[in-house]
Amino acid sequence: MHEYSLAHALLQGLLDHLEAEPVQGTITQVQVRKGELVILSEEALCEAWRILVEGTPLAGSELSLERVPSRLSCASCGYDGPARYIGEESGWHMAIPVLACPRCGARVEVLAGKELAIVGLTLEMQDAPPSGAGPRAAPEPPADKPEAEAH
Ligand SMILES: [Zn+2]
Repeated sequence: MHEYSLAHALLQGLLDHLEAEPVQGTITQVQVRKGELVILSEEALCEAWRILVEGTPLAGSELSLERVPSRLSCASCGYDGPARYIGEESGWHMAIPVLACPRCGARVEVLAGKELAIVGLTLEMQDAPPSGAGPRAAPEPPADKPEAEAH
């Protein structure tokens, strides 16, 4: 139920945000940045989301996860790079990140990889104008500028 509570926290945060700053259109996809060091089942998270959004303005939306690689910084030896994982080579179902310096074993500062946050929304407009009618749909090259030649 770990994923369920994470999905709930994400949803609650987004609903609060939407209440303060409503958006136009229907939200079809919610982009989430997931750090490599956040241990969870992506499948379970997406499944929990689908269940939780029922009956909210986000009903029918899907989560889209973007994985953020880990980055550690070691004050002892200056290492700056990804975390090492236990179980990577042994073919475990889920590798476990080690939060110690891969080079000297000292405690490290985590610079990236622990985040789990909503970073964007995909909206579907209900009253989308027919294609080609938008103000920017003018692919013709700009007309000659006689002004430029006059100078
Ligand atoms: Zn180190």
